[in-house]
Amino acid sequence: MAQKPDVAIVTGGSRGIGAATSLLLAKADYLVVVNYVSNAAAAKAVVSQIEQAGGKAVAIKGDVASEKDIVALFKAADQFGQLKVLVNNAGVIDMKARIDEMSAGRLARMFAINITGSFLCAREAVKRMSTRHGGTGGAIVNLSSAAATLGSPGMFVDYAASKGAIDVFTLGLAREVASEGIRVNAVRPGIIDTDIHASVGEPDRVAQMRGQLPMQREGTSLEVAEAIIWLASDKASYVTGTCLGVSGGRSI
Ligand code: NAP
Repeated sequence: MAQKPDVAIVTGGSRGIGAATSLLLAKADYLVVVNYVSNAAAAKAVVSQIEQAGGKAVAIKGDVASEKDIVALFKAADQFGQLKVLVNNAGVIDMKARIDEMSAGRLARMFAINITGSFLCAREAVKRMSTRHGGTGGAIVNLSSAAATLGSPGMFVDYAASKGAIDVFTLGLAREVASEGIRVNAVRPGIIDTDIHASVGEPDRVAQMRGQLPMQREGTSLEVAEAIIWLASDKASYVTGTCLGVSGGRSI
């Protein structure tokens, strides 16, 4: 019987950084579970691209703000093989706002997706990867943001704070499971050219920011994906608990 492939789950794998990461993980021979929440066509396009290149992938819908969806996502992934990589990529930003304009609903949504979603996905991954639970180890890569080091005043301190939580989570979880075969790291992208900036309410934000960036340009999803792939790979076998800046010098 053919051996089952190693599995990688990328939350929010349908667009932007998650899509670029899915493509690279497939090239590295993982069967990639491309999670998405609403854009089925984009997820399907990523899966097709992977299959055309000779790789294996499957698109699975699920909202990381829902514990039920997360449990179902990981259960569905189990049938394909052993989970070895989780990329906690799904994340949202919101309209530019000051604290005195932020509703409790906005904060609840932001923290449910960006923080609790990452925690619950990591919980499911640890249950499968940890030697404590009979697993063979693995790697978790979380998506933080340069915002966690800048605070984003007058823009979205809620988003920045959610990513600050991811930084601390990365450090704590890394130490918690270091002796169980699991490495946990994060990347902190700077300004990357993806759809996410449209939700801030400033469609030309990337173009506006360009001149203020040390390299005078935004980054690409592929540039972030390359860092994620390295952290997930055995080449980073002694790296855990770290947050790697991928911001062209904008922040650490
Ligand atoms: P993006 O282009 O807006 O794509 C977001 C992805 O997340 C999509 O695949 C989307 O699925 C999915 N998603 C959104 N909400 C979800 C939910 N509740 N459950 C499951 N999936 C969900 O975003 P991006 O710019 O690539 O950002 C990816 C990550 O990098 C985020 O965590 C973001 O905070 C972080 N980041 C981005 C930048 C940047 O400049 N782009 C900078 C720093 C950090 P659908 O396609 O179904 O909508």
